[in-house]
Amino acid sequence: MSTEIYLDGNATTAVLPAAMQAALHMMGERYGNPSSTHSTGMKAKALLDAVRARAARLLGTGNGRLMFNSGATEGIQTAVLSALCAIRERRERGEPVGSLLVYGATEHKAVPESLAHWNRLLGLNLTLHKLPVGHDGRHDLAALRAVVNDAAFVCTMAANNETGIVSDIEGIAAVLAGSPALWMVDCVQALGKLQLDLAATRIDYAPFSGHKLYAPKGIGMLYVREDAPFTPLIMGGGQESGQRSGTENMAGVAALGAVLAALEDGTTFRTHAQLEQFRNRLAESLQKALPGLAFNAPLELALPTTLNFSVPGLSSKELLDVFDAAGVRVSAGSACSAAKAAPSYVLDAMGLPHWRSSSAVRLSFGPLADEAMIADACQRIARCGEALRVSGMLSGAAAAPLDGVVQLSVNGAHTWLVLDAAGLQCAVIDPQAELAERINALLKAQGYTLAAQLSTRDGSSWPAQDDMLSIGRRKLRRVPIGARKLAYLLEGAAQASHAFIGSAQPQDLVRLVGEDTLLCPGQEACQPCCTSLRAEAQDASCCSGMELDSAALEALLRQHPDACLVDVREAYEHAADSAAPMGRAALSVPLSRLAGEAANWLASERQPPLVFFCRSGKRSEKAVECMRRLGYRAAWHLEGGLALSGVAGTLALAA
Ligand code: PLP
Repeated sequence: MSTEIYLDGNATTAVLPAAMQAALHMMGERYGNPSSTHSTGMKAKALLDAVRARAARLLGTGNGRLMFNSGATEGIQTAVLSALCAIRERRERGEPVGSLLVYGATEHKAVPESLAHWNRLLGLNLTLHKLPVGHDGRHDLAALRAVVNDAAFVCTMAANNETGIVSDIEGIAAVLAGSPALWMVDCVQALGKLQLDLAATRIDYAPFSGHKLYAPKGIGMLYVREDAPFTPLIMGGGQESGQRSGTENMAGVAALGAVLAALEDGTTFRTHAQLEQFRNRLAESLQKALPGLAFNAPLELALPTTLNFSVPGLSSKELLDVFDAAGVRVSAGSACSAAKAAPSYVLDAMGLPHWRSSSAVRLSFGPLADEAMIADACQRIARCGEALRVSGMLSGAAAAPLDGVVQLSVNGAHTWLVLDAAGLQCAVIDPQAELAERINALLKAQGYTLAAQLSTRDGSSWPAQDDMLSIGRRKLRRVPIGARKLAYLLEGAAQASHAFIGSAQPQDLVRLVGEDTLLCPGQEACQPCCTSLRAEAQDASCCSGMELDSAALEALLRQHPDACLVDVREAYEHAADSAAPMGRAALSVPLSRLAGEAANWLASERQPPLVFFCRSGKRSEKAVECMRRLGYRAAWHLEGGLALSGVAGTLALAA
């Protein structure tokens, strides 16, 4: 059984085996240049013509042009250049052309970016006009009607890549009837999923992309209506009847041809009804696993292969991470930077509340999906829900109470929690507004009482009479650092086990804490996790040779059967992953709990070798560096993480 379920088909797809074979055959046997006049060239040309004829049949291009190119971004470029050159010529001839370049608010970025680029380069000074969409994601036809008389060029899409919403192409065509405006419809997400008969429509330009439907990346097509204006984007040797120069990507054309053949024969891909049934099963599993889940687009208006949803209280990153740990690849509904998910402009344009547009997840599959894959995906979705539930991440869910020291970080700053599971009491040190909701939910789910909210900059919230505060069985001591700062020391057996020091420097704590007291700073810039006076005295050599590749890990585990594998991913990622590296059970210590656990490891007499791992190796690198600096030498981490080290390939799937 495959360990990966790929549910990100709107981003790209695997290559159909028949397409791979066709590409290989093309590269190995029929490698001719279709422009050559000898027999080898003629064979390549014959294939090029046959694929074009097949595509023309399938798309109903009639007498229109159909050229091969590198993909939809190029097709969009060519369409925009063609339309804008024609508008310029018409304007120079004194014909009325309108002043607006109208584009749907939910278009792929390639559209407005190309419009702005060519409008500037050609010196046209037309106005880019964003056409709003309704709450259902469809273009606002009344708004289009209001501007149609001044529209020079209109760009809409057949189906949206984030939500799957299928546009009302007939409705748009009706509004455009009688207008001289040119019209491009981005058909990237429609290929293989919607019936197309292009020449029967008013559409002037329709770009397509091979890699969204099981052909390789780097091959695409552009349809141009019979009488629509056309200007080549690339000039040179006159290939593609002079419409797109450059020797054709014949391996790509052959592969696309195999996909189109599969579409035409009707037996390879699932029918619309089958896909809808798959989508509905996935939707049901998601709703069951993730209480409160909201679908961000009406399913009845969307492609049967796309689901876009948000879950209250969970970020896209948390959802993506738990799915990834379960071997299910989905994507954020929005462009996502590593630390912060930007809200989706598509969902914003639909007027969805911010929490939904900033936490959306897209799950999409292609028409090659099969029964076994969908059944497996549904099972894994259930496992993700259970993993989130037992980790206390779902609203109202109870989880095993956390105990000890927990670190929460946002925007480069750390908030620290001191929790006592026996007394169900908690203190929060340097709370950040962005974390308030998360902390409240956590405490509520676990039945904790908030005993104190403390600041290392201001002692006014200190609730005790003297300098000692009880948090259940635990004790926090308040100590001034200089005139204006405070530190809070968590009492240990002989000396403070932890000191929460805010922006104070470790040296400020000399004589107040022991050499091995864990110093927990308020800023990531100071330490991603924690430090100690001993750690501050270490030189860089303590951190050399921390990385293990899969072979070194295997050797280490053979040599040290007592070695402990430590998964520093979040608890819900650990719980969702049914696999164990090298067939061994691993301890779950999320990075947020390392400072709590480090004290126990350092205090243990028999310090077993520790091997930290995570998905990419980034979190485990922080963990091992922290432990080495604290003086725990027998610590390593898996370089490249489960994703890149190859260890995931050796995972033994638990029953
Ligand atoms: N248009 C839409 C709707 C898309 O989804 C994409 C790809 O993400 C593109 C255009 C760009 O396609 P390509 O990757 O072929 O340039």
